[in-house]
Amino acid sequence: MTKAELEERIKCWQEQLGLQEWSIVVKLVEGDDVTDDAWATGHINNSKEEAVITLAKGRTDSQQVKSSVHELVHVVLYPMWLLAKQGDNAEEYARAEEKAAKRLTNALYQEG
Ligand SMILES: [Zn+2]
Repeated sequence: MTKAELEERIKCWQEQLGLQEWSIVVKLVEGDDVTDDAWATGHINNSKEEAVITLAKGRTDSQQVKSSVHELVHVVLYPMWLLAKQGDNAEEYARAEEKAAKRLTNALYQEG
């Protein structure tokens, strides 16, 4: 799958998740450059409705799409993080959000 094809798939998922107003930029980088626990990271600017999804190269198409859906789920949940991060339970919230993002992604996207 080319980057353009991946971007097209992400556009479809954006619409399904009600994020069609968002501007989502996709970056493909060498695996070592993705510092997160996963193979993907997302940087979100909620007020501008912009996000950058960074994906490690060299994975299957299905894995790339699934990671993208996972990051888009984080975009959906982000307003809650903005509320939670000011409180005492920010770390617990972050762990709970990660769990929720994984469950929702598994439910939404079956890796083929
Ligand atoms: Zn995550």
